[in-house]
Amino acid sequence: KVLLHIEHLTKRYDKDTVALRDVSIDFKEGDFVVVIGPSGAGKSTLIRCINRMIDATDGKILFDGQEISGARGQKLRVLRSEIGMVFQNYNLIGRVNVVKNVLYGRLGHMPLWKSLLGKYSREERKAAFALLEKVGLKDQAYKRADALSGGQMQRVGICRALIQEPKLLLADEPIASLDPKSAEIVMEQMHDITSERGLTCIVNLHQVDFARRYASRIVGIRDGQVVFDGAPDELTDEM
Ligand code: ADP
Ligand code: ADP
Repeated sequence: KVLLHIEHLTKRYDKDTVALRDVSIDFKEGDFVVVIGPSGAGKSTLIRCINRMIDATDGKILFDGQEISGARGQKLRVLRSEIGMVFQNYNLIGRVNVVKNVLYGRLGHMPLWKSLLGKYSREERKAAFALLEKVGLKDQAYKRADALSGGQMQRVGICRALIQEPKLLLADEPIASLDPKSAEIVMEQMHDITSERGLTCIVNLHQVDFARRYASRIVGIRDGQVVFDGAPDELTDEM
């Protein structure tokens, strides 16, 4: 089943910068896709179009049969709550404790007044601790987020994305700021937890070695166009 269908997607920031050129691509349910390509290739732009942080200039994106490109208001809110995001810089609130940072992933599901009060149900708390246990951070639950190492922060970032129970997980350069060992743990946990749940995952990376190790499919982007799309073992060294 196709979860995400992208058709003739073009993103032009200004007349000289075309970040994506007529990209058409489908993502199947349960895939762990790594998008690779040099800096400036258009990887982040693709992710930002999918989660509607930016509007595409042209083309169509269908997520689970629904058009993302034109969604507004409540429809957009629901779509966003179904798409989890993991960021390069973790996007945690440093002075807030770890478990609260995870719970913030639920905000998109709450009415505004409730999110302001920060009232979470017993079930939501249990889910947060269960996720933290999965990534080996249950004992850090009441530490401030900024007391953690980079790798630990990113694992909290993964928990925050997963607690919203998304249908799709997007990760934009999740390991770019990490040392190799922490990067490996983050990739492994992200891969294992998502494949356990059959969750579709699209990860932007510039490290080809990590792409080869974890991806079920690799998409290569260069100058805003797809230049490779296939299994990890089909990837040649110059990509
Ligand atoms: P990456 O290669 O990891 O995407 P960049 O350094 O290209 O990171 O971009 C970092 C931030 O700067 C992004 O938020 C992007 O939107 C913004 N940015 C990148 N290029 C430009 C540009 N030419 N003009 C304005 N903002 C830009
Ligand atoms: P990647 O993630 O592969 O590094 P990006 O999607 O960040 O690539 O960038 C693709 C192109 O779009 C680059 O030329 C970049 O400079 C440009 N770009 C990215 N963000 C912006 C922005 N906010 N404004 C203008 N140009 C941008």
